[in-house]
Amino acid sequence: MTTGQNSLLNFETELALQPIGFIRSCYKEKFGIPRQPGLVTAAQAKLQLLPAFSQPEAFKGLEQFSHVWLIFQFHANPSASWSNTVRPPRLGGNKRLGVFATRSTFRPNPLGLSVAGLDKIEFLGQETCLHLRGIDLLDGTPVFDLKPYLPYADSILGAQGGFAEQAPTSEWEVGFTPEAQLQCAEKSLQLGTDIELLIRQILQQDPRPSYRAQAVDGRIYAMKLYDFDLQWHYKAKLIEVIGLVDLVESPVKH
Ligand code: SAH
Repeated sequence: MTTGQNSLLNFETELALQPIGFIRSCYKEKFGIPRQPGLVTAAQAKLQLLPAFSQPEAFKGLEQFSHVWLIFQFHANPSASWSNTVRPPRLGGNKRLGVFATRSTFRPNPLGLSVAGLDKIEFLGQETCLHLRGIDLLDGTPVFDLKPYLPYADSILGAQGGFAEQAPTSEWEVGFTPEAQLQCAEKSLQLGTDIELLIRQILQQDPRPSYRAQAVDGRIYAMKLYDFDLQWHYKAKLIEVIGLVDLVESPVKH
């Protein structure tokens, strides 16, 4: 065994990461979450730091930044599920690129990197809570590190964006049935946030798999947001919200 291999082995055994906290997000399932942060600016989340990482001095100065980087685990993916090439949704799901040329969630180490708006830092006794905006993260996501976003270093004028040069856009309009609009108003009051705007921004991304993207089918699609199931369907160039159905807790089986 060469020296290089030896030191690599030592490195692997010594590196043990533990989460500093967990995300509490409006997104309760993977389907429908935008494919990058910043696309759904109305998406709110909290990062709840564990007590060991919650000392106010650990955050001193962070309030001066408008955005933070999060390094997190794609914890909802099955472990060890990656391959050398992947089919990015942006390319219609039928062209293969190298895993390291994409932001695929299936990677050798299942780590993700997202930038988020930082609205507020709250110190709650044992626990510190960061209020975040524009996230692309599932509820329960473990976070391993947090760093301020540095515009001078992290935003590169004239950088090339490869196959994802522009933000994705959909030509479909988002509409609501009168009943769904009423339900949005009620939910907005209940949750203290603009639910109609959130839904508009999410559906504007058209969450369907790309091979169906142009189809008008008879299906009803659904995704879990907060404590409800958002249901919609497709009409000629219209993504129509049909209803917000409250999710009831499944009864405990004895
Ligand atoms: N900005 C990150 C993530 C991009 S992929 C990065 O580039 O590394 C975004 C997708 O990750 C979302 O559409 C969602 O389906 C998925 N996702 C978000 N949180 C996840 C989690 N905890 N486990 C598995 N998949 C997750």
